[in-house]
Amino acid sequence: MSDIIHNLNQVTQNIKTVALECGRDPEEIKLVAVSKRFPVSAIETGLKAGHNLFGENYIQEAAEKYDQLTNSGETNARIHFIGHLQSNKTKTAAAISSMIETVDRLKLARVLNKHLVALNKNLDILIQVNIGKDHNKSGVFPEDAQDLLQAIKDEKLTNLSIRGLMTMPPITPDAEEARPFFRNLRQLSQDLAEKSLFTDNQKIELSMGMSSDYHVAIQEGATLVRVGTAIFGQRPVLEKA
Ligand SMILES: *Cc1c(COP(=O)(O)O)cnc(C)c1O
Repeated sequence: MSDIIHNLNQVTQNIKTVALECGRDPEEIKLVAVSKRFPVSAIETGLKAGHNLFGENYIQEAAEKYDQLTNSGETNARIHFIGHLQSNKTKTAAAISSMIETVDRLKLARVLNKHLVALNKNLDILIQVNIGKDHNKSGVFPEDAQDLLQAIKDEKLTNLSIRGLMTMPPITPDAEEARPFFRNLRQLSQDLAEKSLFTDNQKIELSMGMSSDYHVAIQEGATLVRVGTAIFGQRPVLEKA
């Protein structure tokens, strides 16, 4: 068995174990296998093992893989876009993604919706929150999240469904240090749901947790964990163009 398949099974099993230990239904938690910087063959291996949800960070790279998969007749792969999204790349992002997890400003939501209307496609999105207020990170600050959600709601962007929140806490050596950030994101999602700011306020998605801390994120309520290294191994360094 390839390492990727072995690791996928291992992470899937870990998710179940942690969920059951903290009294959650494992079915509530989806694994986004983050395949950024790995070739399309890594995705194909995952698909063969029955896993079809992948995370990508770079639009051009994601679009190339999407085309390769489509050209080989593969239709099961679903891509969550989890990278920083520039407005001029939203057309491609809208076309290839099954979810965009990193919407953090009104303009982006607006432009995305315009492309989605043209594509006649509805898209699930998450609002990226900069929960640690780290100036090097994208995402709306937690205190500004309500205004952003309200603004998006007021615009009546017909082809966007706001499913929940996503975050990347500050990188810390100890996974436990991420716990308060995960907890804060969950609390924020509950406050926003009480104000009916999501498309479905009964079922909120929380995308949080990566290879080093997904167990903590699940204990704090994650419904999507984004795991790369623990599945695919160390990422190749970025090639210079
Ligand atoms: C790369 C990346 C991940 C995966 O990180 P690992 O530590 O490799 O699991 C998750 N989320 C985002 C937003 C990423 O950019």
